Amino acid sequence: MLGTLEPEQIDRILHTETVGRIGVHAEGRTYVVPITYVYDGDNVYGHSALGLKIRMMRAAPDVCFEVDQIDDLASWRSAIAWGRYEELSGDLATAAMNLLRSRLAPLTSSETVGPAGHPAGQAGLAGVAFRIRLAERSGRFEKR
Ligand SMILES: Cc1cc2nc3c(=O)[nH]c(=O)nc-3n(C[C@H](O)[C@H](O)[C@H](O)COP(=O)(O)OP(=O)(O)OC[C@H]3O[C@@H](n4cnc5c(N)ncnc54)[C@H](O)[C@@H]3O)c2cc1C
Repeated sequence: MLGTLEPEQIDRILHTETVGRIGVHAEGRTYVVPITYVYDGDNVYGHSALGLKIRMMRAAPDVCFEVDQIDDLASWRSAIAWGRYEELSGDLATAAMNLLRSRLAPLTSSETVGPAGHPAGQAGLAGVAFRIRLAERSGRFEKR
């Protein structure tokens, strides 16, 4: 059975998961890239070293964000949201990094996946803290 998720179910997926995919289109190219994130009910917070995704979101801040939960190929839930990329600085960046750290530290063991081991997380200097302010959202599911 295929269906549409209610807003609160979409919210639950966004709160529960920690890995999502950013879709961005800039200068004639589309880029889909996985990131680790934290959701606060309105915004998706992330961090990144400077690279293609940050350059593209700076050029085209209206982005798409996708998260899914897969039990098996006939049982899954998926949320898609559109939102606006905003770079954070000062207290907002510190708050975002603290949010990421507290949510992700128990799950983190690599250089890219969590802020604890990332240059952006160590000094607050070498990376970019950002949020995607979510607007329109949709959700679908399949279950037996
Ligand atoms: C589960 C998971 C969580 C992650 N969490 C984060 C995070 O929170 N923050 C973060 O910055 N990065 C995270 N990464 C890594 C992220 O997906 C990118 O690989 C990395 O951020 C570099 O992206 P960039 O756009 O700066 O690429 P650049 O270093 O600028 O390189 C761009 C080039 O590399 C290729 N490329 C980049 N990333 C990938 C990829 N994942 N797979 C295949 N090709 C790729 C592009 O196609 C392009 O050709 C995560 C990856 C995974 C799988």
